[in-house]
Amino acid sequence: MNLLQNLNEQQLAAVTLPNQSALILAGAGSGKTRVLTTRIAWLIQTGQMSPQSVLAVTFTNKAAKEMMTRLSAMLPINTRGMWIGTFHGLCNRMLRAHHRDAGLPSTFQILDSADQLGAIKRLLKANNIDDERYPPRNLQQFINGSKEAGLRARDVEVNDDYNRKFVELYGIYDAQCNREGVCDFAELLLRCYELLDRNEILRQHYQDRFSHILVDEFQDTNKLQYAWLKMLAGGHGRAGSITGARNAIFAVGDDDQSIYAFRGANVGNMSDFEREFRVQNLIKLEQNYRSVGHILNAANALIANNARRLGKELWTDAGEGEPVRIHEAQTDGYEAAWLVDEVRQLITEGHVRAEIAVLYRSNAQSRVIEHALFNAGIPYRVYGGLRFFERAEIKHALAYLRLIENPSDDTAFLRIVNFPPRGIGARTLEQLADAARGGNASLYAAVGGMTGAPGAKLGAFVKLIESLRFETANLPLSEIVDAVIQRSGLIQHYQAEKEGQERVENLGELVNAAAAFVQEEGYGADAPGTQGEAAAAIPSPLAGFLSHASLEAGDNQAEAGQDALQLMTVHAAKGLEFFAVFITGLEEGLFPHENSLTELDGLEEERRLMYVAITRARRRLYVSFAQSRLLHGQTRYGIKSRFLEELPDSAVKWLTPRVAAQGGGGRFGQWHDPGVKAAAPAGSVRSQPSHGFRVGQSVRHAKFGEGVIVNLEGSGDDARVQVNFGVHGVKWLLVAVARLVAA
Ligand code: ATP
Ligand code: MG
Repeated sequence: MNLLQNLNEQQLAAVTLPNQSALILAGAGSGKTRVLTTRIAWLIQTGQMSPQSVLAVTFTNKAAKEMMTRLSAMLPINTRGMWIGTFHGLCNRMLRAHHRDAGLPSTFQILDSADQLGAIKRLLKANNIDDERYPPRNLQQFINGSKEAGLRARDVEVNDDYNRKFVELYGIYDAQCNREGVCDFAELLLRCYELLDRNEILRQHYQDRFSHILVDEFQDTNKLQYAWLKMLAGGHGRAGSITGARNAIFAVGDDDQSIYAFRGANVGNMSDFEREFRVQNLIKLEQNYRSVGHILNAANALIANNARRLGKELWTDAGEGEPVRIHEAQTDGYEAAWLVDEVRQLITEGHVRAEIAVLYRSNAQSRVIEHALFNAGIPYRVYGGLRFFERAEIKHALAYLRLIENPSDDTAFLRIVNFPPRGIGARTLEQLADAARGGNASLYAAVGGMTGAPGAKLGAFVKLIESLRFETANLPLSEIVDAVIQRSGLIQHYQAEKEGQERVENLGELVNAAAAFVQEEGYGADAPGTQGEAAAAIPSPLAGFLSHASLEAGDNQAEAGQDALQLMTVHAAKGLEFFAVFITGLEEGLFPHENSLTELDGLEEERRLMYVAITRARRRLYVSFAQSRLLHGQTRYGIKSRFLEELPDSAVKWLTPRVAAQGGGGRFGQWHDPGVKAAAPAGSVRSQPSHGFRVGQSVRHAKFGEGVIVNLEGSGDDARVQVNFGVHGVKWLLVAVARLVAA
């Protein structure tokens, strides 16, 4: 098979570069991922490297799987043992293989971010820390941020008492995790980095092994991830100076699609990489193969509003295609109803549902859309919402499995010690926690020292876990899972619950998931080429399944084979493409998100996010917004997003009458008030409001506290006020329901 025949000139040049570090900087849909995958295949096919010497990093598990599928289609090789995955997945694999050197138990468990928050709350409580002064979420952010900067508690610079407390708690948290044998997400990376940093033999081993390192979506790597890559490339040197990196890094990325700065991603890695690796090969790809002209022009015009760009323009020879359709709805409910109509129409025209995506800025927006789709009987799948492995009943079942694997896992212990209820109360658990702390032991181990009725109940629980471990020792994974959900009493518990049917079904689905996992991972069938280090890297089916559940949550939730509409946040849509895309909720405060409006950086990141959204569409793009929307229990009156104004007239078509700009001041002040237009004759807008509030007045709201009225609209039941609540932002409120009082 000729791998190179479907590439344009620049793509061909990129795929066949000599083994030197290279940066492929290219816009959306220009074939970056295709180039990266083809390069791996080409290097193997031409004998320049073996499948074992490649390390390829992508951004999501979905993307990694896709890459392996494409590779197997191009070459007759087994991709299973290859090191292709996400940063977290690859670090997990390395830590499993060298857990002793990394100071971890072989059965270490991964805390997802909800588990981590739980562990932090527990820690604050055990140490009598005021969680109002030190909010658990802030501590969580502090810990993760420090880890992503490569800093342990002892390395963090302390500048005041408040900060000192955070640092102290960070240290206690790490000690707790070590005692319990658990790793949070950021820890996987930092621990792996430290392992390689400290252990010269291992470092040499992997540097020798991975002669080719390839990275997709490079613009969204954070500092620690970049440092980890440098370490593997052999560019060791803490201060960032690379002295003769041994292995080349082939990085592809797009600065215009950097959308994870809020999580520590550092676009500056691109220029650092160029400098530190003395990149000679900087290739730009500018032909877009994904979208028609109007869609591409809309994307180009929008992103041109950002000041800080490396600068590149995309073009296509696919023709103009259809213009971008813009729709204005009165409410979010109407927006969803319109969307359902359009989707039906697309399906009637013969398009499969999986080729249609509905994107939104925030997860909370999906509920209304889901409701409308459900009522219309259109199958859909939500990516990134409450995913299968995040549901309570599934987490309970997994906690039993985790405790069987690793009795020191206090998070798992606490989740299920009294679930289903066994009459073990909070006081008993406090006593147990004291005993555990006193003996520097896990909760599980401390049970032996408890006496009386509480001791008996706890003892029975431990006995249950012990007998489960003993009885399931040699069973296949799916039977272990089945035994656990039966013997733990979970199934019976939910069967007795009035609305527990779905949960019972989900638990059944967990057994299926375990069986599918064993099959997909090829346990039992000896995978070729897995001796020595590689064999040691393969965990037991149960350990593997538990990692999989933590790392790949959500990837398997679609009902097999069902054609479903794709719902997801814009963040989750990165790298994907669809025939038709709907971008909903284009309202100021929602998209761009209100948290971003005060800083230029924030606004530019929102614009890149919109750029990502637009460039997901191949042929048809819909953009919609609503005049009012119920979000978090509050009606919000939207002003249409500035991003709509940034799309060129020549590329768009308004499906609803476009309302002319009125008043508003500011560059993007083209907001209007259709709510009033719909509800009352125009003349009444100016009539005297009866509520008696006036602009400039101070008011108090039960939730947002004190604020100042900055604007008034409408009258009677429709009267609303815009209030600046300082830290809580500027909000539109309906006077009739907001219960404002004069302050
Ligand atoms: P993103 O920035 O969104 O991740 P990308 O640059 O990775 O996009 P790809 O996903 O690799 O782009 O490619 C976009 C689409 O264009 C894919 O459907 C791909 O198969 C197709 N494509 C890429 N190059 C070519 C080519 N030379 N000829 C035909 N189709 C191509
Ligand atoms: Mg891509």
